[in-house]
Amino acid sequence: MKKSKFLGALIGAAFSATLALSAMQAQAAATIVILNMNAAGEGFNDPTPAAPVGGNPGTTLGQQRLNAFQAAADIWGATLTSSQTITIRASFEPLTCTASSAVLGSAGAWNIWRDFAGAGKPNTWYPQALANKLSGTNLSAGDPVDGQDIRARFNSRLGLFADCLPGSPFYLGLDNNHGPLIDLVSVLLHEFGHGLGFQTFTSGATGAQFDGRPSIWDHYIYDDTANMLWVNMTDAQRATSSLNTGKLTWSGAGVTAKVPEVLSLGTPALTISGPAAGTAAGPYNIGTASFGPPLSSPGVSGTLMPVVDTGTSTGLACTPLSAANALAVNGRIALVDRGTCTFAVKAKNVQNAGAIGVIVVNNAVGSAPGLGGADPTVTIPAISVSLADGNLLKAALSKRTRTSSGVTALLGVNAGQYAGADTAGRARLFAPNPFQSGSSVSHFDTIAFPNLIMEPAINGDLLHSVVLPTDLTFELLKDIGW
Ligand SMILES: [Zn+2]
Repeated sequence: MKKSKFLGALIGAAFSATLALSAMQAQAAATIVILNMNAAGEGFNDPTPAAPVGGNPGTTLGQQRLNAFQAAADIWGATLTSSQTITIRASFEPLTCTASSAVLGSAGAWNIWRDFAGAGKPNTWYPQALANKLSGTNLSAGDPVDGQDIRARFNSRLGLFADCLPGSPFYLGLDNNHGPLIDLVSVLLHEFGHGLGFQTFTSGATGAQFDGRPSIWDHYIYDDTANMLWVNMTDAQRATSSLNTGKLTWSGAGVTAKVPEVLSLGTPALTISGPAAGTAAGPYNIGTASFGPPLSSPGVSGTLMPVVDTGTSTGLACTPLSAANALAVNGRIALVDRGTCTFAVKAKNVQNAGAIGVIVVNNAVGSAPGLGGADPTVTIPAISVSLADGNLLKAALSKRTRTSSGVTALLGVNAGQYAGADTAGRARLFAPNPFQSGSSVSHFDTIAFPNLIMEPAINGDLLHSVVLPTDLTFELLKDIGW
Protein backbone atom coordinates (compact mmCIF):
# COMPACT_ATOMS: atom_id res chain seq x y z
CA MET A 1 0.00 0.00 0.00
CA LYS A 2 1.47 3.29 -1.01
CA LYS A 3 0.20 6.79 -0.82
CA SER A 4 1.37 9.77 -2.77
CA LYS A 5 0.54 13.43 -2.98
CA PHE A 6 -0.94 14.41 -6.27
CA LEU A 7 -1.78 18.02 -5.72
CA GLY A 8 0.86 19.41 -8.03
CA ALA A 9 -1.27 18.82 -11.05
CA LEU A 10 -4.81 19.91 -10.43
CA ILE A 11 -6.92 18.75 -13.30
CA GLY A 12 -9.94 20.53 -14.57
CA ALA A 13 -8.37 23.90 -14.25
CA ALA A 14 -10.04 24.88 -17.45
CA PHE A 15 -13.68 24.15 -16.88
CA SER A 16 -14.08 27.43 -18.59
CA ALA A 17 -16.54 29.83 -20.00
CA THR A 18 -15.73 31.65 -23.17
CA LEU A 19 -18.64 28.84 -21.47
CA ALA A 20 -35.22 17.78 -12.15
CA LEU A 21 -32.76 15.19 -11.09
CA SER A 22 -32.77 11.85 -12.83
CA ALA A 23 -33.91 8.80 -10.98
CA MET A 24 -31.43 7.87 -8.31
CA GLN A 25 -30.25 4.38 -7.57
CA ALA A 26 -32.26 3.28 -4.60
CA GLN A 27 -29.42 1.94 -2.50
CA ALA A 28 -26.82 4.51 -3.45
CA ALA A 29 -25.45 6.65 -0.68
CA ALA A 30 -22.24 8.30 0.30
CA THR A 31 -21.64 11.07 2.79
CA ILE A 32 -19.85 14.10 1.41
CA VAL A 33 -18.48 16.68 3.80
CA ILE A 34 -17.36 20.13 2.70
CA LEU A 35 -14.48 21.78 4.53
CA ASN A 36 -14.73 25.55 4.26
CA MET A 37 -11.15 26.74 3.80
CA ASN A 38 -11.94 30.44 3.39
CA ALA A 39 -10.87 32.97 6.01
CA ALA A 40 -13.38 35.17 7.78
CA GLY A 41 -15.09 37.61 5.44
CA GLU A 42 -14.02 35.80 2.25
CA GLY A 43 -15.43 33.21 -0.11
CA PHE A 44 -17.87 31.03 1.76
CA ASN A 45 -17.76 33.58 4.57
CA ASP A 46 -18.41 36.62 2.35
CA PRO A 47 -20.98 38.71 4.30
CA THR A 48 -22.20 40.68 1.25
CA PRO A 49 -26.01 40.68 1.50
CA ALA A 50 -27.78 38.64 -1.19
CA ALA A 51 -31.43 38.16 -2.02
CA PRO A 52 -32.65 34.55 -2.00
CA VAL A 53 -32.63 33.19 -5.54
CA GLY A 54 -33.87 30.05 -7.32
CA GLY A 55 -34.54 28.00 -4.20
CA ASN A 56 -31.36 29.13 -2.46
CA PRO A 57 -32.53 30.73 0.81
CA GLY A 58 -29.13 32.18 1.78
CA THR A 59 -29.09 35.88 2.59
CA THR A 60 -25.35 36.45 2.13
CA LEU A 61 -23.09 35.66 -0.82
CA GLY A 62 -21.08 33.26 1.34
CA GLN A 63 -24.12 31.37 2.60
CA GLN A 64 -25.52 31.05 -0.90
CA ARG A 65 -22.22 29.61 -2.11
CA LEU A 66 -22.27 27.07 0.71
CA ASN A 67 -25.86 26.14 -0.07
CA ALA A 68 -24.96 25.53 -3.73
CA PHE A 69 -22.05 23.35 -2.59
CA GLN A 70 -24.36 21.33 -0.41
CA ALA A 71 -26.80 20.88 -3.29
CA ALA A 72 -24.06 19.54 -5.57
CA ALA A 73 -22.68 17.34 -2.79
CA ASP A 74 -26.18 15.94 -2.23
CA ILE A 75 -26.47 15.00 -5.92
CA TRP A 76 -23.15 13.17 -5.91
CA GLY A 77 -23.83 11.70 -2.48
CA ALA A 78 -27.09 10.18 -3.66
CA THR A 79 -25.32 8.73 -6.72
CA LEU A 80 -22.21 7.19 -5.18
CA THR A 81 -21.96 4.30 -2.77
CA SER A 82 -19.17 4.28 -0.18
CA SER A 83 -18.88 3.35 3.48
CA GLN A 84 -16.25 6.08 3.84
CA THR A 85 -16.99 9.77 4.21
CA ILE A 86 -15.77 11.84 1.25
CA THR A 87 -14.22 15.13 2.33
CA ILE A 88 -13.87 18.08 -0.02
CA ARG A 89 -11.50 20.87 0.95
CA ALA A 90 -13.03 23.87 -0.80
CA SER A 91 -12.45 27.57 -1.18
CA PHE A 92 -13.42 30.51 -3.30
CA GLU A 93 -10.37 32.48 -4.38
CA PRO A 94 -9.14 34.55 -7.34
CA LEU A 95 -8.43 32.33 -10.35
CA THR A 96 -7.22 33.07 -13.89
CA CYS A 97 -9.47 35.57 -15.64
CA THR A 98 -9.69 37.94 -18.55
CA ALA A 99 -12.51 40.14 -19.81
CA SER A 100 -13.58 37.38 -22.20
CA SER A 101 -12.69 34.09 -20.51
CA ALA A 102 -12.25 32.67 -17.06
CA VAL A 103 -11.28 29.58 -15.16
CA LEU A 104 -14.44 28.74 -13.23
CA GLY A 105 -12.89 26.23 -10.91
CA SER A 106 -10.39 23.47 -10.53
CA ALA A 107 -10.34 20.28 -8.54
CA GLY A 108 -8.51 17.04 -8.17
CA ALA A 109 -7.67 14.19 -5.86
CA TRP A 110 -5.73 15.27 -2.76
CA ASN A 111 -3.88 11.95 -2.50
CA ILE A 112 -3.55 8.93 -4.73
CA TRP A 113 -2.99 5.33 -3.63
CA ARG A 114 -1.87 2.02 -5.08
CA ASP A 115 -1.71 -1.62 -3.99
CA PHE A 116 -4.15 -1.20 -1.08
CA ALA A 117 -6.45 -4.04 -0.02
CA GLY A 118 -9.34 -4.09 -2.49
CA ALA A 119 -7.53 -2.36 -5.36
CA GLY A 120 -8.91 -3.71 -8.62
CA LYS A 121 -5.61 -3.50 -10.50
CA PRO A 122 -2.11 -3.84 -9.05
CA ASN A 123 0.63 -1.25 -9.39
CA THR A 124 -1.98 1.34 -10.39
CA TRP A 125 -2.82 4.74 -8.91
CA TYR A 126 -6.34 5.39 -7.60
CA PRO A 127 -7.80 8.66 -6.28
CA GLN A 128 -8.20 8.60 -2.51
CA ALA A 129 -12.01 8.75 -2.38
CA LEU A 130 -12.20 5.68 -4.61
CA ALA A 131 -9.37 3.91 -2.81
CA ASN A 132 -11.22 4.43 0.48
CA LYS A 133 -14.39 2.99 -1.03
CA LEU A 134 -12.64 -0.06 -2.49
CA SER A 135 -10.69 -0.78 0.68
CA GLY A 136 -13.64 -0.11 2.95
CA THR A 137 -11.39 1.90 5.23
CA ASN A 138 -10.21 5.46 5.60
CA LEU A 139 -6.69 5.04 4.29
CA SER A 140 -5.68 8.43 5.71
CA ALA A 141 -7.28 7.91 9.11
CA GLY A 142 -5.58 9.88 11.84
CA ASP A 143 -3.98 12.34 9.49
CA PRO A 144 -5.73 15.68 10.02
CA VAL A 145 -4.73 17.07 6.64
CA ASP A 146 -4.52 14.01 4.44
CA GLY A 147 -7.93 12.85 5.58
CA GLN A 148 -9.21 15.21 2.93
CA ASP A 149 -9.99 13.51 -0.35
CA ILE A 150 -10.56 16.32 -2.84
CA ARG A 151 -9.16 19.84 -3.21
CA ALA A 152 -11.46 22.23 -5.04
CA ARG A 153 -11.09 25.90 -5.87
CA PHE A 154 -13.65 28.21 -7.43
CA ASN A 155 -13.32 31.67 -8.91
CA SER A 156 -14.31 34.29 -6.35
CA ARG A 157 -14.09 37.20 -8.80
CA LEU A 158 -16.12 35.74 -11.65
CA GLY A 159 -18.39 38.30 -13.26
CA LEU A 160 -17.87 40.78 -10.45
CA PHE A 161 -14.95 42.70 -11.98
CA ALA A 162 -14.22 44.18 -15.41
CA ASP A 163 -11.21 41.88 -15.93
CA CYS A 164 -13.07 38.68 -15.04
CA LEU A 165 -15.85 37.87 -17.49
CA PRO A 166 -17.91 40.90 -16.46
CA GLY A 167 -21.65 40.36 -16.47
CA SER A 168 -21.35 36.58 -16.17
CA PRO A 169 -21.22 35.83 -12.46
CA PHE A 170 -22.16 32.49 -10.99
CA TYR A 171 -25.87 31.82 -10.75
CA LEU A 172 -26.36 30.79 -7.15
CA GLY A 173 -29.89 29.45 -7.44
CA LEU A 174 -30.39 25.72 -7.11
CA ASP A 175 -33.06 25.39 -9.81
CA ASN A 176 -30.81 25.58 -12.90
CA ASN A 177 -32.75 28.65 -14.09
CA HIS A 178 -29.45 30.39 -14.79
CA GLY A 179 -30.28 32.24 -18.01
CA PRO A 180 -27.06 33.78 -19.35
CA LEU A 181 -25.25 33.36 -16.03
CA ILE A 182 -22.87 30.49 -15.18
CA ASP A 183 -24.63 27.84 -13.16
CA LEU A 184 -22.57 27.20 -10.04
CA VAL A 185 -24.20 23.86 -9.22
CA SER A 186 -23.21 22.56 -12.68
CA VAL A 187 -19.63 23.77 -12.17
CA LEU A 188 -19.53 22.09 -8.77
CA LEU A 189 -20.81 18.78 -10.13
CA HIS A 190 -18.06 18.94 -12.76
CA GLU A 191 -15.22 19.73 -10.37
CA PHE A 192 -16.33 17.17 -7.80
CA GLY A 193 -16.33 14.66 -10.69
CA HIS A 194 -12.62 15.31 -11.25
CA GLY A 195 -11.88 14.88 -7.58
CA LEU A 196 -13.80 11.62 -7.39
CA GLY A 197 -11.73 10.15 -10.20
CA PHE A 198 -12.52 11.74 -13.55
CA GLN A 199 -8.83 12.33 -14.29
CA THR A 200 -5.64 10.51 -15.13
CA PHE A 201 -2.57 11.21 -13.04
CA THR A 202 -0.39 10.50 -16.06
CA SER A 203 0.87 13.60 -17.88
CA GLY A 204 -0.78 13.99 -21.25
CA ALA A 205 1.82 16.58 -22.24
CA THR A 206 4.84 14.30 -21.75
CA GLY A 207 3.19 10.90 -21.45
CA ALA A 208 5.06 10.32 -18.19
CA GLN A 209 3.27 8.24 -15.58
CA PHE A 210 3.13 9.44 -11.99
CA ASP A 211 6.04 7.79 -10.18
CA GLY A 212 6.47 5.42 -13.12
CA ARG A 213 3.14 3.67 -12.65
CA PRO A 214 -0.15 3.92 -14.56
CA SER A 215 -3.33 5.51 -13.27
CA ILE A 216 -6.55 3.54 -13.25
CA TRP A 217 -7.69 5.69 -16.18
CA ASP A 218 -4.77 4.47 -18.31
CA HIS A 219 -6.25 0.98 -18.36
CA TYR A 220 -9.21 2.41 -20.31
CA ILE A 221 -7.82 5.27 -22.42
CA TYR A 222 -7.63 3.88 -25.95
CA ASP A 223 -6.02 5.31 -29.08
CA ASP A 224 -7.86 4.45 -32.30
CA THR A 225 -4.80 5.03 -34.46
CA ALA A 226 -2.27 3.07 -32.43
CA ASN A 227 -4.96 0.55 -31.44
CA MET A 228 -3.46 0.51 -27.97
CA LEU A 229 -4.41 1.30 -24.39
CA TRP A 230 -2.40 3.98 -22.63
CA VAL A 231 -1.22 1.47 -20.06
CA ASN A 232 0.64 -0.39 -22.82
CA MET A 233 2.26 2.65 -24.44
CA THR A 234 5.60 4.38 -24.05
CA ASP A 235 5.71 7.95 -22.80
CA ALA A 236 6.27 9.19 -26.35
CA GLN A 237 3.30 7.23 -27.64
CA ARG A 238 1.05 8.66 -24.93
CA ALA A 239 2.20 12.22 -25.67
CA THR A 240 1.33 11.70 -29.33
CA SER A 241 -1.95 10.05 -28.41
CA SER A 242 -3.09 12.97 -26.27
CA LEU A 243 -3.11 15.10 -29.48
CA ASN A 244 -5.04 12.55 -31.55
CA THR A 245 -8.21 14.61 -31.96
CA GLY A 246 -11.33 12.50 -32.37
CA LYS A 247 -9.42 9.26 -31.91
CA LEU A 248 -8.61 9.31 -28.21
CA THR A 249 -11.38 7.32 -26.58
CA TRP A 250 -12.64 5.62 -23.41
CA SER A 251 -12.77 1.85 -23.78
CA GLY A 252 -14.50 1.01 -20.49
CA ALA A 253 -17.36 -1.40 -21.09
CA GLY A 254 -19.85 0.51 -18.95
CA VAL A 255 -19.56 3.79 -20.84
CA THR A 256 -19.49 2.11 -24.24
CA ALA A 257 -22.66 0.16 -23.47
CA LYS A 258 -24.51 3.34 -22.56
CA VAL A 259 -23.28 5.64 -25.35
CA PRO A 260 -26.42 4.89 -27.42
CA GLU A 261 -28.61 5.74 -24.43
CA VAL A 262 -27.05 9.15 -23.82
CA LEU A 263 -25.56 10.50 -27.06
CA SER A 264 -27.47 11.39 -30.21
CA LEU A 265 -27.03 9.28 -33.30
CA GLY A 266 -25.40 11.44 -35.95
CA THR A 267 -22.03 13.03 -35.29
CA PRO A 268 -21.49 16.56 -36.62
CA ALA A 269 -19.66 16.52 -39.93
CA LEU A 270 -18.53 18.79 -42.76
CA THR A 271 -18.42 17.41 -46.28
CA ILE A 272 -17.01 19.40 -49.19
CA SER A 273 -17.97 18.70 -52.79
CA GLY A 274 -18.59 20.50 -56.10
CA PRO A 275 -16.91 20.91 -59.48
CA ALA A 276 -14.22 23.28 -58.17
CA ALA A 277 -13.53 21.38 -54.93
CA GLY A 278 -10.64 19.38 -56.38
CA THR A 279 -8.41 17.96 -53.66
CA ALA A 280 -10.50 19.79 -51.03
CA ALA A 281 -13.40 17.39 -51.62
CA GLY A 282 -14.30 15.00 -48.82
CA PRO A 283 -15.05 14.86 -45.07
CA TYR A 284 -13.38 17.09 -42.47
CA ASN A 285 -12.63 16.99 -38.77
CA ILE A 286 -14.54 19.88 -37.26
CA GLY A 287 -15.14 21.71 -34.02
CA THR A 288 -18.70 22.51 -32.98
CA ALA A 289 -20.23 25.60 -31.40
CA SER A 290 -21.92 26.13 -28.06
CA PHE A 291 -24.28 28.65 -29.76
CA GLY A 292 -26.58 28.30 -32.73
CA PRO A 293 -28.42 25.11 -33.69
CA PRO A 294 -26.64 21.75 -33.49
CA LEU A 295 -25.89 20.13 -36.83
CA SER A 296 -28.66 17.78 -37.89
CA SER A 297 -29.85 15.66 -40.78
CA PRO A 298 -30.16 16.33 -43.69
CA GLY A 299 -28.09 19.36 -42.75
CA VAL A 300 -27.48 22.75 -44.29
CA SER A 301 -25.90 22.71 -47.75
CA GLY A 302 -24.77 25.64 -49.85
CA THR A 303 -22.07 27.25 -51.87
CA LEU A 304 -19.03 28.11 -49.78
CA MET A 305 -17.84 31.70 -50.06
CA PRO A 306 -15.11 33.50 -48.08
CA VAL A 307 -15.38 36.80 -46.27
CA VAL A 308 -12.33 38.61 -47.61
CA ASP A 309 -12.24 42.35 -47.41
CA THR A 310 -13.35 43.24 -43.92
CA GLY A 311 -10.94 45.64 -42.25
CA THR A 312 -7.51 44.08 -42.55
CA SER A 313 -8.47 41.84 -45.48
CA THR A 314 -8.29 38.77 -43.31
CA GLY A 315 -11.94 37.83 -43.35
CA LEU A 316 -12.56 38.30 -39.66
CA ALA A 317 -16.23 39.30 -39.89
CA CYS A 318 -15.94 41.22 -36.66
CA THR A 319 -17.97 44.12 -38.03
CA PRO A 320 -21.06 44.27 -40.27
CA LEU A 321 -20.08 42.92 -43.68
CA SER A 322 -19.24 45.16 -46.62
CA ALA A 323 -21.65 45.18 -49.56
CA ALA A 324 -19.35 42.91 -51.57
CA ASN A 325 -19.03 40.38 -48.76
CA ALA A 326 -22.73 40.47 -48.05
CA LEU A 327 -23.41 39.78 -51.73
CA ALA A 328 -20.98 36.87 -51.64
CA VAL A 329 -22.37 35.12 -48.57
CA ASN A 330 -26.08 35.90 -48.91
CA GLY A 331 -27.89 32.57 -49.13
CA ARG A 332 -24.55 30.74 -48.90
CA ILE A 333 -22.13 29.38 -46.32
CA ALA A 334 -19.52 31.86 -45.14
CA LEU A 335 -15.86 31.03 -44.50
CA VAL A 336 -14.30 33.39 -41.92
CA ASP A 337 -11.03 33.53 -40.01
CA ARG A 338 -10.65 33.14 -36.25
CA GLY A 339 -9.42 36.13 -34.26
CA THR A 340 -10.07 39.65 -32.90
CA CYS A 341 -13.69 39.11 -31.85
CA THR A 342 -15.80 36.30 -30.44
CA PHE A 343 -17.05 33.41 -32.52
CA ALA A 344 -20.64 34.42 -31.84
CA VAL A 345 -20.01 37.94 -33.18
CA LYS A 346 -18.66 36.50 -36.43
CA ALA A 347 -21.65 34.19 -36.77
CA LYS A 348 -24.07 37.03 -36.11
CA ASN A 349 -22.44 39.33 -38.68
CA VAL A 350 -22.58 36.78 -41.48
CA GLN A 351 -26.09 35.78 -40.44
CA ASN A 352 -27.15 39.42 -40.71
CA ALA A 353 -25.71 39.43 -44.23
CA GLY A 354 -27.89 36.47 -45.17
CA ALA A 355 -25.48 33.54 -44.72
CA ILE A 356 -27.08 30.18 -43.96
CA GLY A 357 -24.06 28.74 -42.14
CA VAL A 358 -20.54 29.67 -41.10
CA ILE A 359 -17.18 27.91 -40.97
CA VAL A 360 -14.46 29.48 -38.80
CA VAL A 361 -10.87 28.76 -39.86
CA ASN A 362 -8.38 28.42 -37.00
CA ASN A 363 -5.63 31.07 -37.00
CA ALA A 364 -2.95 28.85 -35.48
CA VAL A 365 -1.58 25.41 -36.20
CA GLY A 366 -3.54 22.65 -34.54
CA SER A 367 -6.94 21.00 -34.54
CA ALA A 368 -10.31 22.61 -35.19
CA PRO A 369 -11.27 24.47 -32.02
CA GLY A 370 -14.57 24.27 -30.17
CA LEU A 371 -16.49 27.50 -30.67
CA GLY A 372 -17.38 28.72 -27.19
CA GLY A 373 -19.64 31.63 -26.37
CA ALA A 374 -23.32 32.36 -26.32
CA ASP A 375 -25.81 34.37 -28.39
CA PRO A 376 -29.39 33.10 -28.50
CA THR A 377 -30.05 35.23 -31.59
CA VAL A 378 -27.65 33.19 -33.73
CA THR A 379 -29.84 30.82 -35.72
CA ILE A 380 -27.39 29.49 -38.32
CA PRO A 381 -25.07 26.52 -37.68
CA ALA A 382 -21.42 27.33 -36.93
CA ILE A 383 -18.42 25.01 -37.06
CA SER A 384 -14.64 25.32 -37.21
CA VAL A 385 -11.85 23.72 -39.22
CA SER A 386 -8.09 23.63 -38.68
CA LEU A 387 -5.78 26.19 -40.26
CA ALA A 388 -4.43 23.56 -42.68
CA ASP A 389 -7.94 22.53 -43.74
CA GLY A 390 -8.96 26.17 -44.00
CA ASN A 391 -6.05 26.86 -46.34
CA LEU A 392 -7.11 23.89 -48.45
CA LEU A 393 -10.63 25.33 -48.70
CA LYS A 394 -9.34 28.81 -49.54
CA ALA A 395 -7.23 27.37 -52.34
CA ALA A 396 -10.32 25.72 -53.79
CA LEU A 397 -12.18 29.03 -53.55
CA SER A 398 -9.47 31.01 -55.36
CA LYS A 399 -11.17 30.89 -58.76
CA ARG A 400 -14.59 32.05 -57.56
CA THR A 401 -16.71 34.84 -59.01
CA ARG A 402 -18.39 37.42 -56.77
CA THR A 403 -21.33 35.10 -56.12
CA SER A 404 -20.23 31.59 -57.00
CA SER A 405 -17.33 29.27 -56.17
CA GLY A 406 -18.21 25.82 -57.45
CA VAL A 407 -17.47 24.54 -53.95
CA THR A 408 -20.33 23.13 -51.88
CA ALA A 409 -20.26 22.71 -48.10
CA LEU A 410 -22.63 20.38 -46.27
CA LEU A 411 -22.92 21.06 -42.53
CA GLY A 412 -24.65 17.88 -41.46
CA VAL A 413 -24.16 14.69 -39.57
CA ASN A 414 -22.54 11.33 -40.11
CA ALA A 415 -25.69 9.31 -39.47
CA GLY A 416 -23.99 6.08 -38.42
CA GLN A 417 -21.90 7.58 -35.63
CA TYR A 418 -22.93 8.88 -32.19
CA ALA A 419 -22.17 12.54 -31.45
CA GLY A 420 -19.21 12.25 -29.11
CA ALA A 421 -18.23 8.68 -29.96
CA ASP A 422 -15.86 7.10 -32.46
CA THR A 423 -16.93 4.78 -35.27
CA ALA A 424 -16.68 1.81 -32.88
CA GLY A 425 -19.05 3.47 -30.41
CA ARG A 426 -16.47 4.40 -27.77
CA ALA A 427 -16.89 7.79 -26.10
CA ARG A 428 -14.35 10.33 -27.31
CA LEU A 429 -12.01 12.11 -24.88
CA PHE A 430 -10.90 15.71 -25.34
CA ALA A 431 -7.68 15.67 -27.35
CA PRO A 432 -7.06 19.05 -29.02
CA ASN A 433 -3.85 19.95 -30.78
CA PRO A 434 -2.00 21.82 -29.36
CA PHE A 435 -2.27 20.30 -25.90
CA GLN A 436 -4.42 22.25 -23.44
CA SER A 437 -2.97 21.98 -19.97
CA GLY A 438 -5.69 21.25 -17.43
CA SER A 439 -8.21 20.29 -20.12
CA SER A 440 -6.72 17.72 -22.50
CA VAL A 441 -7.43 14.01 -21.93
CA SER A 442 -9.31 14.17 -18.61
CA HIS A 443 -12.61 15.34 -20.16
CA PHE A 444 -15.17 14.09 -22.64
CA ASP A 445 -14.86 15.63 -26.11
CA THR A 446 -16.64 18.92 -26.76
CA ILE A 447 -18.33 17.37 -29.81
CA ALA A 448 -20.58 15.26 -27.55
CA PHE A 449 -24.30 15.95 -27.93
CA PRO A 450 -26.37 16.24 -25.84
CA ASN A 451 -23.72 18.06 -23.87
CA LEU A 452 -22.05 16.25 -20.99
CA ILE A 453 -21.13 17.63 -17.57
CA MET A 454 -17.50 16.53 -18.01
CA GLU A 455 -16.76 18.47 -21.19
CA PRO A 456 -13.93 20.99 -20.67
CA ALA A 457 -16.09 24.08 -21.16
CA ILE A 458 -19.46 24.65 -19.56
CA ASN A 459 -22.59 24.51 -21.69
CA GLY A 460 -25.81 26.28 -20.79
CA ASP A 461 -28.07 23.27 -21.29
CA LEU A 462 -26.67 20.94 -18.61
CA LEU A 463 -29.31 19.34 -16.38
CA HIS A 464 -27.73 18.87 -12.92
CA SER A 465 -27.35 15.17 -13.59
CA VAL A 466 -24.32 12.91 -13.66
CA VAL A 467 -26.27 9.74 -14.39
CA LEU A 468 -28.24 8.00 -17.15
CA PRO A 469 -30.04 8.76 -19.32
CA THR A 470 -28.67 12.31 -19.21
CA ASP A 471 -24.97 11.82 -18.69
CA LEU A 472 -22.11 9.31 -18.93
CA THR A 473 -20.02 10.62 -16.03
CA PHE A 474 -21.12 8.12 -13.39
CA GLU A 475 -20.82 5.29 -15.93
CA LEU A 476 -17.16 6.22 -16.37
CA LEU A 477 -16.59 6.30 -12.62
CA LYS A 478 -18.21 2.88 -12.37
CA ASP A 479 -15.77 1.62 -15.03
CA ILE A 480 -12.85 2.53 -12.74
CA GLY A 481 -14.39 0.95 -9.66
CA TRP A 482 -17.06 3.23 -8.18
ZN1 LIG B 1 -12.80 19.89 -15.93
